[in-house]
Amino acid sequence: MSKHHYVYGNWKMNHGPAKAAEVLSELEPVTEKLSHTTVGIAAPAVSLPKALELTTASALKVGSQNVHWEESGAFTGEISVGMLQEIGCDFTLTGHSERRHIFGETDQMIAKRTIAGLSKNLEVVFCVGELLEEREAGKTTEVLQTQIGALLPELTAELSKNMIIAYEPVWAIGTGKVAGAEEILQAHKDIVDYWAEVSDAPCPPILYGGSVSPDNFAEIIRLDNVSGALVGGASLVAEKFSKLIAISEEA
Ligand code: PEP
Repeated sequence: MSKHHYVYGNWKMNHGPAKAAEVLSELEPVTEKLSHTTVGIAAPAVSLPKALELTTASALKVGSQNVHWEESGAFTGEISVGMLQEIGCDFTLTGHSERRHIFGETDQMIAKRTIAGLSKNLEVVFCVGELLEEREAGKTTEVLQTQIGALLPELTAELSKNMIIAYEPVWAIGTGKVAGAEEILQAHKDIVDYWAEVSDAPCPPILYGGSVSPDNFAEIIRLDNVSGALVGGASLVAEKFSKLIAISEEA
């Protein structure tokens, strides 16, 4: 029996409601009959209601690109777990590298966002990954452990059941420079090993992210400890994203 896979798209600041509707309608036939792939799209906040309306009868999950830890209050520009659940969101991303490195979110902030989502039964795709200079300095393992370690004070085994980890080396995101098989294998193994040290719960599924495309995904999805992909650029075009889903279903 094939292992379960996850193919999640991150549209970032692309696709307002009209374009979102167009792409989702093109994806509809592809997501109708999936055997071992869960498909999700993290859409911009303004496109979530339209995306959710169009996918009520579909297995495709719709999620947010971030979430705040408080339920309400003076947090301009933020969205709470309750608000996402009120409109029917299935999941959220947290800790995406653009949040960490463009917007300065710290490990502690990201941990609070992640725990808030998980505590209220919102699936969280928690993103981790090293900068190029950290990799070159031999610090990849340490960075991954620090990023995951920030969750541990509050991450119970029960909460971790609703979490997916996305390993996304920052230097491979949006650059066309996909990590090599050895680099992916090592980083995913680092996460599995660290998880076994710090938790009694099964390790969450680990997705790879960073310039995934129909040209490289067949190899990546077959690597040990890789349960799927978090996809930026190639998720924006239905034809490319459909190919990734097909590759997942074949693997
Ligand atoms: C991402 O945004 O999470 C990502 C992996 O982007 P891309 O696939 O474009 O590298």
